[in-house]
Amino acid sequence: MGSPLLEEDLPVQWPGRLRPERLLGLAFQTPYLAGDVTVVAERLVEFRAAMGGIEPYYSVKANPAPEVISTLSGLGIGFQAGSLSELKMLTDNGVEGNRVLFGNPVRTGPHLRAAAAAGVWRMAFDSASELRRIADHAPGACVYLQVQVNEETNRPFGAHPSQARALMTLARDLGLVPYGLAFHLGAQQSSPAAWFPALGLIGQVMSELLEDGVGLAMLGLGGGFPARYAEEVAPIARFGTSLRAAVDELLPYRPDNLVCEPGRFLVAESGVMVTTVLDRSRRGDAEWLVLDAGVHQGLTGQDRFPVATSLPDPPRVSKRLFSLAGPTCDASDVIARDVPLPEPISPGDLVMFGTAGAYTVCRAAGYNGFGRPKVFFV
Ligand SMILES: *Cc1c(COP(=O)(O)O)cnc(C)c1O
Repeated sequence: MGSPLLEEDLPVQWPGRLRPERLLGLAFQTPYLAGDVTVVAERLVEFRAAMGGIEPYYSVKANPAPEVISTLSGLGIGFQAGSLSELKMLTDNGVEGNRVLFGNPVRTGPHLRAAAAAGVWRMAFDSASELRRIADHAPGACVYLQVQVNEETNRPFGAHPSQARALMTLARDLGLVPYGLAFHLGAQQSSPAAWFPALGLIGQVMSELLEDGVGLAMLGLGGGFPARYAEEVAPIARFGTSLRAAVDELLPYRPDNLVCEPGRFLVAESGVMVTTVLDRSRRGDAEWLVLDAGVHQGLTGQDRFPVATSLPDPPRVSKRLFSLAGPTCDASDVIARDVPLPEPISPGDLVMFGTAGAYTVCRAAGYNGFGRPKVFFV
């Protein structure tokens, strides 16, 4: 069959250990997500070098696979868990609760008690009612306020900056430690300068809090560091430089613990989703391929994944544009349109999606009876 894809044609971030011919040779039942933990470790090294004194806490929701957790844990990183079950995945894989930020600002009393019993001592909040729940069920905890810095988006979580003083002093009055502030800009930020407006706002809140005698031990800068999909992104070093400049310029003082919560950046490029072509047919103007995984297995259209196939792909092979759909035959299940692929591709051939290690399989919930792809790591 020859080499499926020449090395120079693969996107630069494609994991060397997950090259198409290697995956083809494994002959595993598709669909599956193949992951390479060495890529996760490399991304963390790169991230730490870029961020200097800003400590990463891995946002587990991006990819909660045990192999990812234990790789990162072994490198001494902290974690950000969004639920008790994520916390359990962490503790089951050897992470101590004292390394975990409990990030979701709304939980039940029993969940708060279980988290505190597991050693979690830093908990996000964004409302007075959650503060009261924390005071009841995890008395004395260190709490940090999740602040909404993005005025135009109406998000379900996050306190308005104008509420910070009242909430942080209420925390103190309830016997909790008003430990810090945190914010999150949202996914896949393209500009290293994106943190400036948010840190300007946070700097003002920090100055106001000083008037109440509240100094911050921690400031959380969120996640949103971009992974490389089909298009290039700015190098992570530029994000680090920009963040440190914003902290120096815009904050009245530097909290002892500057932290951030990368998810996608650390794991996205470690994964390749491998699918099989089930059908090829012409509908209207488009040539469609139906694959055995799609949007409901995590190949969501908002990310443009780099694509490779199991077919020989020398530079002069003739290509045509295909629309790619998932197996549900639901109108929502369109992965991408106008993807150039080798002309002879047909049922039984493989289509592989790079940069599939974040927010893919963990989102699959069995819609229409098509389940969650298996995950394995090399
Ligand atoms: C999801 C999330 C993150 C991680 O975001 P990425 O885009 O994966 O880096 C960080 N912080 C909070 C509060 C989140 O909700």
